[in-house]
Amino acid sequence: MPSTTHPHAFHFDRAVDSYWEASADPPGIDAAPLQSEETCDVAIIGAGFTGLSAALELAGSGADVRVLEAGRVGWGASGRNGGFACIGSHKLSYGQMIRTYGLEATRHYYQTMHQSVALVRETLDRYGIDAWASGDGEVTLAHLPSRVAELRDEQAFLRETFGDRTEFLPKEELAARGLDGPGFHAGLKGNTGFGIHPLNYARGLARAAAKAGARIHGSSRLLRWEETPQGHVLHTAEGRLRARHVIVATNGYTPEDVSPRHGGKLMPALSSILVTRVLTQDELQSQGWTSPLMAYDSRKLLHYFRLLPNGRFLFGGRGGTDASDNGSTAYRPVLEGAFRELFPAWRGAEITHYWRGFVCLAYDLVPYVGALDEARTVWTAIAYHGNGVAMGSWCGRAVARLLTGKAAHGELSPVLTRRLARFPLPAFRPLYLKGAYVWYGWQDKS
Ligand SMILES: Cc1cc2nc3c(=O)[nH]c(=O)nc-3n(C[C@H](O)[C@H](O)[C@H](O)COP(=O)(O)OP(=O)(O)OC[C@H]3O[C@@H](n4cnc5c(N)ncnc54)[C@H](O)[C@@H]3O)c2cc1C
Repeated sequence: MPSTTHPHAFHFDRAVDSYWEASADPPGIDAAPLQSEETCDVAIIGAGFTGLSAALELAGSGADVRVLEAGRVGWGASGRNGGFACIGSHKLSYGQMIRTYGLEATRHYYQTMHQSVALVRETLDRYGIDAWASGDGEVTLAHLPSRVAELRDEQAFLRETFGDRTEFLPKEELAARGLDGPGFHAGLKGNTGFGIHPLNYARGLARAAAKAGARIHGSSRLLRWEETPQGHVLHTAEGRLRARHVIVATNGYTPEDVSPRHGGKLMPALSSILVTRVLTQDELQSQGWTSPLMAYDSRKLLHYFRLLPNGRFLFGGRGGTDASDNGSTAYRPVLEGAFRELFPAWRGAEITHYWRGFVCLAYDLVPYVGALDEARTVWTAIAYHGNGVAMGSWCGRAVARLLTGKAAHGELSPVLTRRLARFPLPAFRPLYLKGAYVWYGWQDKS
C-alpha cells in the first residue's frame, strides 16, 4: 500500500465528519457485525455503491450473498463524495482510448457511462430513495481565456465521435445562466447527470439489497483471506465467512495486503470537499451563481462545485498527497483559498464541514470489471478515477451479472474488461502521484 494512504485515513470505527453524515436519513437496516462462522455463495467486500449494487443484483436473482464492510454502509468514498452522478470515469483521453481499444469499444464505453447515470435515476425511482436529486446536466468552465478554444474543440469532438450534443456558453451567457464568476471564461454544458445526496443513496441501496435478501455486516473488516480447495474463507475480528465466490468492491480503500491479487495495481488519490452554511438569495445573486448545475473547472487538478438544493454550496478539489490528519489540516486552507478566489462574494460565508477521501486510479487509466483468477471465483469492479457514483453502481451490477452468467464478458466494452495492470515499480506510486501533481499544477497555469 503506498504511503499516501496513511493509517489516519482508515479509522473505520469513526463516522466521517461530512455534511452528508450530518444530514442523512437513518440507515434503516441492522448491519450487525459478523460474529459467527457462516457460509454463502457470494461474499462481497465493501458496502459502497459497487458492493451494494452487486449485492442488490445477486440477491434479486436468488443468490445467497453477504457483504462485509469494515466501517458502516457508505463509509468509504460512496458516502462522502460530491454527489455528482455523472460521466467521466477515466483519465485516459478519448483519443488515446480510441488508439488503444478502437472506436467501437470507445463508443460502447461512452454509452455505458450514460447508461450508468440512467441506472442511478432508475434505482432511486424504483426503490423510493430520497437522495435530493437536483439539476439536469453538468458544465465544464474554462479557468483561463486560453482554455476557451479547447472547450470548442471538445464540443466538436463529442459531436463527431459520439453524436453527443453539448452547448457552448460564452462568458456573457454564463451570467445569464446563473454560472457567473470572475475566474470562468466560457462553459461547455452537457445534458447528462444530476446531483444527489450520496449517503442517502448508499443507505437506500443497502435497504433495497437487504430487502432482496442480502445480509450486510458492518464493522466487519476483512483481516485475512484463506483460499482452500473447498473455497474462500474470509476472516474478520469476530467471525469467519466461507464463500464460493468473492467480489472485492473496495476501490480507493483496497487492502492490498489482504487481497494480493490487487497488489501494485491501484493508486488511491485524495479528493477533498468543503460545504458552506446556507447562502441567502442576496448572496447568491451578488455572486451571480444561482444554478443547480454540477460544475467543474478545466484544471487538471480540478475543482468541482454545486449549489445544493437547500442553499448550501459544495466545493471540492483534487490534490494533496498527505492522507494523515496533519495533511488534512494543512490542505484545508488550500481548498478554502481556491473557493474564496473563485467565489469572492462569499468570502464571509462560514464553512461548516470539511472532509476528504480516496478516489482510485488504475495504471491503464480506465475502470476494470471482471475476474482476477483463472478459476473465476475472485471478482472485482474498481478504479473509477474520481467519478464512481454512477459507474460504481453500473459496474457493481455488471460484475454480479458476469459472475452469475446473466451477462457475457463480450457484452461489456473491452475498455472495461481488458486487464487490471500492475504499475511498474509499484513501490514508487506515491512518487508518481506527487510528480503528476507538480506537472498538472504547472499545466493548469498556462
Ligand atoms: C471526496 C470525494 C469526492 C468524490 N466526488 C465524486 C462525485 O461527485 N461524483 C462521482 O461520480 N464520484 C465521486 N467520487 C468518487 C466516488 O465516490 C467513488 O468512485 C465511488 O464511491 C466508489 O464506490 P465503491 O463502492 O467502489 O468504493 P467505496 O465507496 O470507497 O467503498 C469501499 C468500501 O470498502 C470498505 N473496505 C475497505 N477495506 C475493507 C476490508 N478490509 N474489509 C471490509 N471492508 C473494507 C471501505 O470501508 C469502504 O466502505 C468522489 C470521491 C471522494 C473521495
